[in-house]
Amino acid sequence: MGSNAYPLSINQVTMRDRWSLRQAVEGCARHGVRGIATWRDKLQECGIQEGARIIADHGLTVTGHLRAGMFPAATPEGRRKAIDDNKRAIDEAAAIKAQCLVLLGGGIPEGSKDLAGTRRMFVDGLGEVLPYARAAGVKMAIEPLHPMYAADRNCINLLSQANDICDELGEGVGITYDVYHLWWDPNLKAETERAGKVPGRIVAFHVCDWLVPTKDFLTDRGMMGDGVIDIPLIRSWVEETGYDGFCEVEILSSRWWAEDPDKVIETCIERCRTVC
Ligand code: ZN
Repeated sequence: MGSNAYPLSINQVTMRDRWSLRQAVEGCARHGVRGIATWRDKLQECGIQEGARIIADHGLTVTGHLRAGMFPAATPEGRRKAIDDNKRAIDEAAAIKAQCLVLLGGGIPEGSKDLAGTRRMFVDGLGEVLPYARAAGVKMAIEPLHPMYAADRNCINLLSQANDICDELGEGVGITYDVYHLWWDPNLKAETERAGKVPGRIVAFHVCDWLVPTKDFLTDRGMMGDGVIDIPLIRSWVEETGYDGFCEVEILSSRWWAEDPDKVIETCIERCRTVC
């Protein structure tokens, strides 16, 4: 393991507050990183056409555009707004030729305790925007998040749930597979094999590490090799499905945000070579 068979991509959130989109693209290119995952606010700040031009000029592949989904809302107007916002995100993803638009489930609407209903709202919303995404040629990639986010961020928490939704909605829907969110699931190997039965279902592969102790739910993710996730093992399962895309480093970490972004990228490259 550690063969670095996948080309490397860096998710822009890894340098979040330090770099604009232009700086992140230039930084990736400077270090020989061939992929980048972009965030909507950073792209909008740069300008969508300008962002698309900068990315193309540097020859980078956009391994994902983040983030959309989040369809559940307390009111029909809220659900309508989410649909409209997803269409704008699809337009952005198409403009920068992103390999996928990364979708979060969204949390439980305010005042509700209906988790099953929240999940249904996500599936219904995705079903509604799917024809628009298919027409634009944008793959919608559901990213299940660790269940600690079920209430406020993402009601889709298991690879099996993402597989079920892909089965239900069909063409144009895939999965963003993140070891940080999925590593603990006892059914992960079986559900990875299940995902692999549909070629192209796994659209993106994200890595970082689970630190012990984890001091913050959102901003204490670890550099690969610093935590307890057996990344090469999980990666081998994903490889066995035929996935041959990028390995995308995505680290939300106040510790790494405090470092020089060039040093962070160098560390990501080195760790991907040695522990992924
Ligand atoms: Zn991720």
